[in-house]
Order: sequence, then C-alpha cells, then structure tokens
Amino acid sequence: MTETIFSKIIRKEIPADIVYEDDLVLAFRDVNPQAPVHILIIPKRPIVSIAEVTPADTELLGYLLLTVARVAAQEGLEEGYRIVINTGKDGGQTVFHLHLHLLGQRMMTWPPG
Ligand code: IMP
Repeated sequence: MTETIFSKIIRKEIPADIVYEDDLVLAFRDVNPQAPVHILIIPKRPIVSIAEVTPADTELLGYLLLTVARVAAQEGLEEGYRIVINTGKDGGQTVFHLHLHLLGQRMMTWPPG
C-alpha cells in the first residue's frame, strides 16, 4: 500500500480533469500530456505497479482494460490509440500507483523511447 499524488486525486483532495469514474476505477487527463489525448486510468485500490499484482487482481486488471476501451470510445479515438503501463525504475514509472496511459489523436512511433 502506498500514498501517492493519485491517492489525493481519488479522494478529491487535489483537482483533476476526471473523464470517467465508478466504484473501482478513475480516469483523468495527464497534467503533462504526451499526445492530444493523454488520459490515465487507475484502480482506486492503491496497487503499486504491474509487478505487484496477484491473482486476486485478475478481474480488476481486466476491468481497467475495459475502461480504457470505454474512455477511448468516449474520446472518439476511432483511428486507434496506444496503451502504456510503465513499470518500475527501468520502465520509467514515476508514480507508484498502477496506471494505464491512454494516448491518442496522433500517429504513434515504434520503438518507444
Ligand atoms: P509514469 O511516469 O508512467 O509513472 O506516469 C506518471 C504520469 O502521471 C506522468 O505522465 C505525469 O505527467 C502524470 N501526473 C503526475 N501528477 C499528476 C497530476 O497531479 N495530475 C495528472 N497527471 C499527473
């Protein structure tokens, strides 16, 4: 369990541009967008990273992906989008509360940086 800036966003202690919310997940616009659409989808439960998940999280992980698809449709990303999950130091993770980046409305490149 960790306390991060995302915990404060979940508790509405700091403002965020929320685009979807229910009992399990929250989706809000990234404060430093890397694409015209850049949204973070997080579980309300503070899982540190993908490296920390357990079989008990299986359903929640699936639900996070369903939420990405829902938000992508809501944002009109019919031409496609990218989902990124930075994990740990080498993965470039800076906030240690699991989050899926949804990036869209521009052509993505490969390999990523
Ligand atoms: P990471 O590098 O994969 O851990 O991504 C963390 C993301 O959180 C970065 O893209 C940041 O721009 C974003 N971020 C950090 N603080 C906030 C905030 O308060 N609101 C929205 N996005 C944030």
